[in-house]
Amino acid sequence: MAENSTAKSPATSWHERAAQLSIDGRAFINGQRVWACSEQQFDSHSPIDGRKLAAVARCDKADVDIAVTAARAAFEDGRWVNLAPAKRKRILIRFADLLQQNAAELALLETLDMGKPIQYSQSVDVAGAANCIRWYGEAIDKVYGEIAPAPSHSLALITREAVGVVGAIVPWNYPMLMASWKIAPALAAGNSVVLKPSEKSPLTALRLAELALAAGVPPGVLNVLPGYGNEAGSALALHMDVDCIAFTGSTRVGKQIMQMAGQSNLKRAWTELGGKSANIVCADCPDLDAAVSAAIGSIYFNQGESCNAPSRLFVEESIRERFLEKALAMVPSFAPGDPLDDKTVMGAIVDDIQLRTVMGYIEQGKQAGARLLAGGEQVKKESGGYYVAPTLFDRVDSGMSIANEEIFGPVLSVLSFTDLQDAVKQANATPYGLHAAIWTSNLSKAIQTSRALRAGTVHVNQYDGDDITVPFGGYKQSGNGRDKSLHAFDKYTELKTTWIQIQ
Ligand code: NAD
Repeated sequence: MAENSTAKSPATSWHERAAQLSIDGRAFINGQRVWACSEQQFDSHSPIDGRKLAAVARCDKADVDIAVTAARAAFEDGRWVNLAPAKRKRILIRFADLLQQNAAELALLETLDMGKPIQYSQSVDVAGAANCIRWYGEAIDKVYGEIAPAPSHSLALITREAVGVVGAIVPWNYPMLMASWKIAPALAAGNSVVLKPSEKSPLTALRLAELALAAGVPPGVLNVLPGYGNEAGSALALHMDVDCIAFTGSTRVGKQIMQMAGQSNLKRAWTELGGKSANIVCADCPDLDAAVSAAIGSIYFNQGESCNAPSRLFVEESIRERFLEKALAMVPSFAPGDPLDDKTVMGAIVDDIQLRTVMGYIEQGKQAGARLLAGGEQVKKESGGYYVAPTLFDRVDSGMSIANEEIFGPVLSVLSFTDLQDAVKQANATPYGLHAAIWTSNLSKAIQTSRALRAGTVHVNQYDGDDITVPFGGYKQSGNGRDKSLHAFDKYTELKTTWIQIQ
């Protein structure tokens, strides 16, 4: 998910900046910071050292009702959707500029709240979110309607219209980036949005809403409600006046979201869900060092908390020993460090619940007889935070839970193969279908394998290909619809046909 860096490290250390940061945990509704109607709060803690960062509004159905009413009013009176496209474009570009101007603060907030290394909060999360908002802002006046072939006495216009009020629910692993993948295309299409960030990392989404207002997005058009999934999240997914729910998160909750959409007003429901991506390295791989570096770098990036992490590595048996030797030499460079140190490449796991999940899977791997070659333990306990050593299991069997279930932590499972067709079969044998990769010098083999892999993105001889211009999403239980690219507009627009009689 790498994008170009825009933020510069401040002269004072990140720790000094963190100590001075004032954090507002109130919700953002109708252009204003407010506490929840119930006055309930929850504490946001930093996974870096466990310290309390802020009290956050614990929104529930009552707040969702108020926010949806504000979003509906903003949509109906046309304060956003009826602005000239060039004006909306200018506002979204100003919004992106404001992200870049506040990059240091946003990056710091993201790292404190979620635990990822500060260098990536800058170069991936803030830069990626700003790039996304700018890109959709630029697109506003470049998406045209169509004219269908029609009988000579008539004209059939096909236009795209905003769906209305969009509910967006996002996870904690890339809080700002996932929020921007939803709100940028939804706002560009003219909708009003009610966004619920994860209760584990709500802080940057709240700042985004303030920056949107400062850029000129009218009050009511973008609302952000922090809260728990089974309180604020379900109230949004069940709401009768929300036209579309755009969800990113686990497959388990994604299924519930589809049900809630169906049992309420049959709102459009879009889901971007989990993954267990397969990375297949053949003996004729053109560059073994590059394959090792991508396999190791991509699984440990973001502490392994990436939906598209290549968590299953299939290596052809004849190169397995050589591959593992090189891989194991790289692993120690990913040892977790202080996320507020510019040089750190692996940070903290988001919270103790996720830490326990990851450690539970490691234990299952050991019990099942997989060979633990690196890591396997919690580290930096004295910090008060949640850190796991980069972990590598060899001799993993496709029946083991570490080969089939999404761990969402820095754990790589290595399986070997002698028959490529069998490896592809195994690669496809999970409920997921998000990303996959094939490494080979043989073009025909690469294309045949790419066609056979049931995944929304297939990489050939790389794993880092990513850009706002390409769609991102999954096959099977990795979800439906696509984020990013112009295809994201399919989520947030209705197609309308207008027949015009010519006399
Ligand atoms: P999660 O499903 O637990 O939570 C995601 C969001 O849904 C959170 O905001 C949460 O509060 C909310 N939620 C939880 N229960 C809810 C309910 N009953 N009703 C409505 N909302 C509810 O997922 P997570 O742990 O936050 O994120 C990790 C998951 O996200 C992983 O499975 C990962 O693969 C996936 N993910 C997918 C993509 C993608 O683009 N496919 C991107 C990032 C993360």
